[in-house]
Amino acid sequence: MSLKQWVIDLMLIPGLSGYEGRVRKYLKAAMAGLGITSTTDRLGNLIATLPGDKGAPSVMLFAHMDQLGLIVRKIEANGMVRVERLGGVPERALPSTEVLFCIGEGKDVPGLIAHKSHHATAQDEKYKVLPYPELYIDAGFKSAAEVLAAGIDVGTPIVYAPKVTELANGRIAGTAVDDRAACAVMIEVAKALTDVKKRPTVHFVFSVQEEFNLRGAVTAAQVLMPDVAIQLDLILATDTPDMAARGDVKLGGGPAMSLYSFHGRGTLNGTLPHPAMVKLFELSAAAKQLPLQRSAHIGALTDLSYVQLVGQGVASIDVGFPMRYSHSSLEVCDMADLEQLTTLLVEALPRIDSKFSLDRDDYIG
Ligand SMILES: [Zn+2]
Repeated sequence: MSLKQWVIDLMLIPGLSGYEGRVRKYLKAAMAGLGITSTTDRLGNLIATLPGDKGAPSVMLFAHMDQLGLIVRKIEANGMVRVERLGGVPERALPSTEVLFCIGEGKDVPGLIAHKSHHATAQDEKYKVLPYPELYIDAGFKSAAEVLAAGIDVGTPIVYAPKVTELANGRIAGTAVDDRAACAVMIEVAKALTDVKKRPTVHFVFSVQEEFNLRGAVTAAQVLMPDVAIQLDLILATDTPDMAARGDVKLGGGPAMSLYSFHGRGTLNGTLPHPAMVKLFELSAAAKQLPLQRSAHIGALTDLSYVQLVGQGVASIDVGFPMRYSHSSLEVCDMADLEQLTTLLVEALPRIDSKFSLDRDDYIG
């Protein structure tokens, strides 16, 4: 299997937060194929450990399996379905998208988020974003009884209809690039590390509920108590006209690391990476002559923000791949970035040896 095939396969598996089972099953089999056994904790995190040098700091490398979506809130008498948002679902991007009610493999039901007929749209409605309670899903049913008979009830999970489209220049568009692309990278990193003799213990964690409450990975960290945590996820590409003022992260410009993340609305958390980790990735990129883009901005964070606070603190960093159009049904990444991210990690991880210092005092600038 190639990295690209892992990415495509994983993007097509539905796995709303809290309903990651099918993604987990796939990843468990993929890791087993590499000879690495894994366990599932009670929250649903898949944990696969590659043992290494006991004298070196242990590493938790993780990416989230879940994706954002919707949950059935109410079934109308006429068979239309009302929903709640689960995660940072952009209401602006919802009308006229295809969705999938996740009932069970082979039983999933397609539907669409209705978009009011244009011919009946009044002038003052044309530029308005409809709040999600006003939206409804049309799955073709004519009555509430038909909806229920199809296995859809209050609480049924819904995701964007799984889709992959290959664009020019090795770019891929589709569902759940966030964060299945990183799950695919983890498989390739695990595969490469099995052949490396000198390496630290690496716990591969495929985490749950990141898009829901950002804390799913915490239960894994509490059990593993890693010294180092490296989180793999998207880094916002800022090379489109609407993002120009936010930074210089280019799609196809190579892997990136986050130097600052913060979110204040309700979450009040963020990550300032450990200096040892910043240095590690700078040195590793230089050694492999790889580009390493830098990102610093508020408005987004990952489950790493909570993992870093476990025990006496975990030396942490967010590393990732540039991605456009986050949380829409058609996110875009570049395969070359994912390949280079894999190379970077395979170079960086074995550098964490018994002499690798996590002592803050060794990094005073
Ligand atoms: Zn993510």
